[in-house]
Amino acid sequence: MNDNRSGKGVSFVRRIYLPRIIGLGIGLFSVMAAVAPLQLPNWAWALLLFNGLLWPHLAYQWALRSHTPYQAEQRNLLLDSLMGGFWTAAMQFNPLPSVTILSMMTMNNVAAGGKRLLLQGLLAQLAGMLLAGALLGFGLQPNATPLQVLACLPMLTLYPLALGWVCYQLAIKLAEHKRRLSALSRTDSLTGLLNHGAWKDLLLLRFQACQQQQLPAVVALIDIDHFKTINDTYGHVVGDCVLRQLSQALKRCLREDDQAGRYGGDEFCVILPGAQEAHACLAMERLREQVGAYRNPQLPDLRISLSIGLAAFRPAQPTPEHWLEEADKALYTAKHQGRDQVNFARNDLTTLKLAYPD
Ligand code: GH3
Ligand code: MG
Repeated sequence: MNDNRSGKGVSFVRRIYLPRIIGLGIGLFSVMAAVAPLQLPNWAWALLLFNGLLWPHLAYQWALRSHTPYQAEQRNLLLDSLMGGFWTAAMQFNPLPSVTILSMMTMNNVAAGGKRLLLQGLLAQLAGMLLAGALLGFGLQPNATPLQVLACLPMLTLYPLALGWVCYQLAIKLAEHKRRLSALSRTDSLTGLLNHGAWKDLLLLRFQACQQQQLPAVVALIDIDHFKTINDTYGHVVGDCVLRQLSQALKRCLREDDQAGRYGGDEFCVILPGAQEAHACLAMERLREQVGAYRNPQLPDLRISLSIGLAAFRPAQPTPEHWLEEADKALYTAKHQGRDQVNFARNDLTTLKLAYPD
């Protein structure tokens, strides 16, 4: 419930403030023109001026200061409808201003609260009409004068413009939120690299592109050596810092087209599109050396080394998983050969055949 104050509620109240000022401000002209020939008591004129000029600001402050601004604003919208109904009965249902006011308010209610607010708003309008009938008496004024028609024009033209503008701003904001959420769902929060799922999606795309266009590409799997010992010796905060250092080194060493991700834990993954074996080896050697040279003045004994397994795309690989598996085997070999090294998968088709029998 508390979220209402800072989130949805307050922004909802702010969003409605300006359209209400405009709507009630220009609606005042159409009601004034319609009730001018009638003998309205002074209190009704005072109420009309209050409703047109002061109420938008009072409603805004009232809702903002509420513990539940969203609900308070819904109440204000229903009061708007109540007053709308009141003025249509007070102007003796003069057709053009009545339809103008009621339809604009109904549009407002649908935009702000859907079917529920639409129905509640209609009931509130009816209640307003009955209230005005009880206080001022019922009458019927079927003809609008030219002045009354003219007085409705600002409401008919400006208010839809204001409401449309608010809806457009909202749509832009929603699109922006959607874009940010989508980026967030593809990003590893610790390192800012692609996460496992997003990287695997890219691997599939790259694999298909390589198959269709016969392009070269290399996949690299990078694993920090004895990372568990780093965590155990220096703590997880330092461990996290090492993971971030590696992700930054990756960003520095790679070309713009290369796509790096965090595969999981202390394992990272890179697709190097268009890369030949020699280029990929060189890039990964450079990464290994850069990370190996990292020193932290506060932790002089901290050393980081990497084991890296590489595999080139080959048309014989039936799926991206087979490609990745070759890189994983190369990484496994790098670990077994003493760690702190780059190892390229040998194009050993017999081993593959054994590992993935048809
Ligand atoms: P090896 O040289 O064989 O790779 O040994 P290792 O210790 O690096 O391998 P292991 O897979 O046993 O250890 C990985 C560790 O990474 C274990 C896990 O607790 C740690 N880890 C996984 N995710 C995170 C993380 O986000 N932050 C930190 N600090 N540690 C993590
Ligand atoms: Mg490791």
